[in-house]
Amino acid sequence: DLAQIGVTGLAVMGRNLARNLARNGYAVAVHNRSPERTRRLVDEFGHEGTFVASESMADFVASLARPRAVIIMVKAGGPTDAVIDELVPLLEEGDIVIDAGNAHFADTRRREQALRGHGLHFVGTGVSGGEEGALLGPSIMPGGSPESYRTLGPMFEKISAKVDGTPCCTHIGPDGAGHFVKMVHNGIEYADMQLIAEAYDLLRAGLGATPAEIADIFRTWNTGDLESFLIEITADVLGHVDNETGKAFVDIVLDQAEQKGTGRWTVQSALDLGVPITGIAEATFARSLSGHADQREAARAAFGTDRAAIEVTDRDQFVEDVRRALYASKIVAYAQGFDHIEAGSAEFGWDIDRGSLATIWRGGCIIRARFLNRIREAYDENPGLKSLMVAPYFAAAINDGVPSWRRVVMAAAEAGIPTPAFSSSLSYFDGLRAERLPASLIQGLRDNFGAHTYRRTDRDGTFHVEWAGDKKEHTA
Ligand code: NDP
Repeated sequence: DLAQIGVTGLAVMGRNLARNLARNGYAVAVHNRSPERTRRLVDEFGHEGTFVASESMADFVASLARPRAVIIMVKAGGPTDAVIDELVPLLEEGDIVIDAGNAHFADTRRREQALRGHGLHFVGTGVSGGEEGALLGPSIMPGGSPESYRTLGPMFEKISAKVDGTPCCTHIGPDGAGHFVKMVHNGIEYADMQLIAEAYDLLRAGLGATPAEIADIFRTWNTGDLESFLIEITADVLGHVDNETGKAFVDIVLDQAEQKGTGRWTVQSALDLGVPITGIAEATFARSLSGHADQREAARAAFGTDRAAIEVTDRDQFVEDVRRALYASKIVAYAQGFDHIEAGSAEFGWDIDRGSLATIWRGGCIIRARFLNRIREAYDENPGLKSLMVAPYFAAAINDGVPSWRRVVMAAAEAGIPTPAFSSSLSYFDGLRAERLPASLIQGLRDNFGAHTYRRTDRDGTFHVEWAGDKKEHTA
């Protein structure tokens, strides 16, 4: 019998995705460059469902029912192109090639266009949730043609995570939309994690709380507005004790954060689109800073590492201040991420529905959170929302948090605790709501040194002052 869907690339992600499909009753063709992985999958998990194993790509393709649907789950970049090149000559018009790896959306756009030329559908698909999600139900973000989604949608929705019975999978938009949205998802994940890390640092360094105590604080936070996967696992990680030394786990881990690049891609894209995603950018740069060991050592030698304790008169109040600052900053980071998606959607003609995106991020993915229900509601109420921050629920949460936010950022600055994401989010908030920004001075300077012209507040037109001469204003 022919398989309904195929998976090539059976490392941890591909294997688990194939098992998920098989467990859901689909006959799954499986293939991997080195056949041992394929054999191991069938040996270990063959009993979970119907797997049709092939050693060659030609046999793999021949084992699929038409229109064929092939999921590629290999290392992003060159390996993905290599697999596509091998596949394409074996496929026929109307077949569907799905790239479920973490591709850059520009690569996906290029590949989609190339495969369209061969009469094939290319579906760049974001998959979030790590290996556990792939097996038990990820959040799935497919791009590509609406036609391909008619074939894939039912399968993907079936294997995705569900929240209140709703699948965490929807057609995001054409060509690279799925990978773009997955990229921004990862960027938001960076911001979320940085904010959590700053909150921890404030409680640890500022309050002198132990990791175990902070784990309890996060556990409590996870029962309220902040309820989310990342807050939950923060409590687990902070509560963990190193088996070898008996010390708090967080104290034996080298403090240099790594990255695979999706945060950087997000920031690069935001710069191209002119969207200020300061939370994601600060989070990405904070990871870079942490990795510059030599510079950090030189700075410690030059300036010392002293920090003052935060004067806390009411411990509970301080903890609540940090919680509110975290929540307000998180709203800013998500607002910026959704702005980025809106800008990408407009630039590339994707027509992305931000409300349904919030819906499919409620489960399966790393940023899953109660909060996303609120985001969906906000876009349901007003699809053209200018910023998530101004939706009534979020505006109220921010207003509630502002005094706490300011106290926390001031305390951190006084004590010398770095809070790039908390601080920049507060600045973003104050910047957006400012009656007048000093951008007027920037314009003046630009006109002075480069005759870049400026507009006036009181009448239309473009103007320039003869700075070097009579200082008269001219219409430019
Ligand atoms: P890896 O990224 O480690 O890739 C290993 C797989 O790629 C193996 O099957 C390997 O085959 C195959 N491969 C590498 N080079 C080639 C090539 N030139 N030709 C054919 N096959 C090749 O696997 P993961 O399972 O970790 O991730 C797969 C994809 O999923 C990646 O794009 C990743 O970014 C993405 N992803 C990963 C997540 C995670 O949590 N790990 C989460 C979401 C997405 P062989 O066995 O023969 O070496």
